[in-house]
Amino acid sequence: MANTRCPGCPSGVKGPGKYLCLTCWHALTPASRHALRRRGPGAMARLQDLYRQVANGVPLADIEVTP
Ligand SMILES: [Zn+2]
Repeated sequence: MANTRCPGCPSGVKGPGKYLCLTCWHALTPASRHALRRRGPGAMARLQDLYRQVANGVPLADIEVTP
């Protein structure tokens, strides 16, 4: 898998299997990062939750992902 464009910023590149580039990832709140790191049931819903808010222009620091 190749690196792909980060959905959170115009110039960011994220690695394979990552949700965001490192800059955007670290802009999230610790609670959001913790929720997004969890695997298993609900992981895809949390990812869609994240991307929906990014697409809506919610600042990364204000994004809340359902645990
Ligand atoms: Zn980014």
